[in-house]
Amino acid sequence: MKTADVVIIGAGIVGSSVAFHLTELGCRNVLLIEREQYQGQGSTGKSMGGVRAQFATPVNIQMSMFSIPFFAEFEERVGMPSGYKNHGYLFVANNEPHMRYLRTNFALQTKLGLKQVELLDAQQIAKMVPQIRVDDVLGGSFCQSDGFVDPHLVMTGFYEKAKLAGAELWRSTEVTGIQTDAQGVCGVETTNGFVATRNVVNAAGPWAAGIAKMAGVDLPVHPLRRMLVPTEPFAGIPERCPMVVDMATGFHFRPEGLGLLLAYAHDDEKPGFHTNFDHDFVEKVLDRAITRVPSFENLAVNPKRGWAGLYEVSPDHHAIIGPAPGMKGLFFANGFSGHGVMHSPATGLLTAEWVLHGEPRIIDAHSLRMERFAEGRTLDETAVL
Ligand SMILES: Cc1cc2nc3c(=O)[nH]c(=O)nc-3n(C[C@H](O)[C@H](O)[C@H](O)COP(=O)(O)OP(=O)(O)OC[C@H]3O[C@@H](n4cnc5c(N)ncnc54)[C@H](O)[C@@H]3O)c2cc1C
Repeated sequence: MKTADVVIIGAGIVGSSVAFHLTELGCRNVLLIEREQYQGQGSTGKSMGGVRAQFATPVNIQMSMFSIPFFAEFEERVGMPSGYKNHGYLFVANNEPHMRYLRTNFALQTKLGLKQVELLDAQQIAKMVPQIRVDDVLGGSFCQSDGFVDPHLVMTGFYEKAKLAGAELWRSTEVTGIQTDAQGVCGVETTNGFVATRNVVNAAGPWAAGIAKMAGVDLPVHPLRRMLVPTEPFAGIPERCPMVVDMATGFHFRPEGLGLLLAYAHDDEKPGFHTNFDHDFVEKVLDRAITRVPSFENLAVNPKRGWAGLYEVSPDHHAIIGPAPGMKGLFFANGFSGHGVMHSPATGLLTAEWVLHGEPRIIDAHSLRMERFAEGRTLDETAVL
């Protein structure tokens, strides 16, 4: 019978980071289990790859302040590039409540030691990205160390380094059950046989609630479709264009290859696992795009190149990281609500610390435990795209 010190369910960017950090901390008998033939077919492969520290709550800012420097040094630490580009995130506000919101967040971010964030006026925004229409803009905020990574490269880097240190990956293997005894978790049932273990990490992304249910735990994470569309090559923006977020409409874009990636937060979505791409998304996103960047009326977009993936959403839009209440040996690394790529380094280390040391050490992440919902201590992140 196969035995492992830790079984990780799901080998996307989060499961791979957990495996990497466990092995870095000296735990080498680690088994990743992935039901797909290839890694990255869940949310990781659908992500926009944005990374930012411009959040509204201390724990999210701290997660990013750990993770972004990690991406910058990824190649030295992990042995493969992360594709990190520090083009920044530029939030653009055209009304006073949004400006007030940015000022409040700026004060919190700088208090926590984020050095690169700055508040800009409309002229500074126009200088940074001259194509943006600023006649109604009051100002914005920009953080140079924000930017983008390549999620697939990061996932692969974490996994390959973990593998060198002894971690194993079972592909095309589905976890179908979690067995428990009087001491807690005692193993997982899979389509490849039973694995005995006392520690299971749930890294199943949008499918996390189903995994928790296998151990009798109700995990409040639901899947929510998000769509993106790439454009054909477009030369009309600066070479180092940041991720631009028009707060008025939720429209955001960033450079990708020779073109752009376009998206907006379509809030009318209902929870569910469907990932069909609606072709009318293209018209909706372009309407919003042209409102803020008039020259985008010349963008060429092939709707067939658009895609949809799933956010894994928690009730307060914060990750749920740590031990499962009432089930010894089950750990969550779930519920990122659109931030699982950017927070994957911090999540991997925090989870490894919970498993091996019984507490998070790099930052005080007790607030991310699932108990917060029962105890009425939810966090409420509002800077969600
Ligand atoms: C359109 C879109 C844009 C996004 N943009 C960003 C962004 O800009 N920045 C950012 O930080 N995040 C972004 N995200 C969110 C980010 O992609 C996710 O938070 C992140 O990828 C979650 O990683 P994961 O490893 O937890 O999940 P996944 O990548 O979904 O991995 C979970 C894995 O578990 C496997 N699995 C599930 N059930 C089982 C089972 N029973 N047995 C075995 N294996 C199983 C799945 O096959 C899957 O491979 C975006 C998401 C989408 C959809």
